[in-house]
Amino acid sequence: MAGTPYIVTRGIVLRETESKEADKILTLLTDKCGKIAVIARGARRKSCKYAACVQSLVWSEWTLYQKGDWYYANEGSTVELFPGLRSDLEALSLGFYLAELTEAVTTENTPAPELLRHLLNGLYALSALHKPPALVKPAFELKLLCLAGYEPLADGCAYCGRPDPERPMLDVVQGVLRCGTCGVQESALSMPLCPSSLAALRHIVYGDPKRLYSFTLGDDALRRLSAAAEAFVAAQLERGFRSLDFYKSLQPLN
Ligand SMILES: [Zn+2]
Repeated sequence: MAGTPYIVTRGIVLRETESKEADKILTLLTDKCGKIAVIARGARRKSCKYAACVQSLVWSEWTLYQKGDWYYANEGSTVELFPGLRSDLEALSLGFYLAELTEAVTTENTPAPELLRHLLNGLYALSALHKPPALVKPAFELKLLCLAGYEPLADGCAYCGRPDPERPMLDVVQGVLRCGTCGVQESALSMPLCPSSLAALRHIVYGDPKRLYSFTLGDDALRRLSAAAEAFVAAQLERGFRSLDFYKSLQPLN
């Protein structure tokens, strides 16, 4: 098309929706334009030349053009398929949740480089580093909320100031730490932690983002961290996630 201004950008498919005929509507998180909806014409045909790029959780170099209110895909070539996710249902289902969470905290047409990097790193940790999903999940959730402006105050009890609260709890509504006996009247929904889950939470919130997934926790402490992170997401974003329900449906009952 002569004269059409093309946009070349890298982008990851957060979600794909089947549209009329053989088209798909993709929700892409791109480095240049932030989150955008893109119509991929003929994406469901075998002959589609960028068929590999139109799947969820694939990171590609895209050539797009804009017509009216819509972006259209013109060309695509894959950069990272995250193959380790495609062969592991638990990792894949967590990957979908990481994408749905990222979609929830990004706004259209606003570049969000830190959130994009956070998503790519989370998927890489699952796919290539084979980090356990049970560890990636709370670390991703807590750091995502920090990057999106909901950072909890985790340096000490919000009421008495003790740096190491007694029977520590995370008040997930106010986003503060407290002792089990402090602020009982004032506080809202609080989730119990323990010294090691609190140390992990501080590592996630305050530590080097490059070492986000470099920690270990015993099963009980990891369960407490996970429950607190999940409740914090629900309280701050005030919604549930279908992909989270699916991920949890794969977990053994205990
Ligand atoms: Zn206290």
